[in-house]
Amino acid sequence: MDRSKLRDAPDDDPPPTRRGPAPAPGIAELTDLKAASPDLASAIDLQIELLTIEHRILARVSLPTVDLDAETVRAKLESASPLLQFEQIPLECSDVRLALREMADALRRHDAIDADDYATAQTLSHRGRDLVPLAAAWYAGPPALAQLDTPPSEMLAELIGLALRPSLRRCADAFGRSVDWSSWRRGRCPLCGGEPALATITPDAQRLLICGRCQARWPFHDFACPHCDNADKARITSFASRDGRYRLYGCDACRRYLKAYDARQGTRPALVHVDSIATLPLDAAALQRGYQA
Ligand SMILES: [Zn+2]
Ligand SMILES: [Zn+2]
Repeated sequence: MDRSKLRDAPDDDPPPTRRGPAPAPGIAELTDLKAASPDLASAIDLQIELLTIEHRILARVSLPTVDLDAETVRAKLESASPLLQFEQIPLECSDVRLALREMADALRRHDAIDADDYATAQTLSHRGRDLVPLAAAWYAGPPALAQLDTPPSEMLAELIGLALRPSLRRCADAFGRSVDWSSWRRGRCPLCGGEPALATITPDAQRLLICGRCQARWPFHDFACPHCDNADKARITSFASRDGRYRLYGCDACRRYLKAYDARQGTRPALVHVDSIATLPLDAAALQRGYQA
């Protein structure tokens, strides 16, 4: 057989599916979850689209330089100020605009964004100059957003957070490798000041909180509420999913709740993109009992 002819033949090319970057961690688990829970199919389809966009943009974001000395880190952690300033976030405007446009398109395909918010997202993604001040206000938090001339809707603020997530995740990677925040025990993210989106219980029974904005992880009290620091066990309602893999903590002081992935019952570490969708039934149960996210 003349192998040189085989090599030149077009059929010898690998199929297109083998090219390109590897799929995002979590896609395979989301696909399995969809097969096991068909009632979550539409939420999972949207999540797969959003995660694919996030993963693609993440690969383009440069690693920030971390120039914090140990003394500055100690002082910042002690005074409870976030370690990461907005100016330190590697924001490539074209990437944020691309993420915003593609994510808005994905939300629209799934009827998850209304026409006004979609139109504003389109304008922002085409005209980048309004995007940075908006992103800065989003990073500073709800009071800063409310002070804008035209405060964004809740959905739009969420979309901005999604579009910034690749840059924030890069920061969490870089800072996580060079800064020690293991002494931090507060309910907010030591890096960006965000609220926890999820908790995870590690195989050695430690509870870690995972930031909803940058996905940094930090240790926290075994059962206390991260929103109001209520540590009175009698005023925390906790229950597990049927398979024992997930747990919900409802705080009877502030009425907010937190979900957790129990890695002792699973075969993998927590994956926020997967576990936040797998626990949608727990969200429904929490809302039914009068708790808020
Ligand atoms: Zn964070
Ligand atoms: Zn609370």
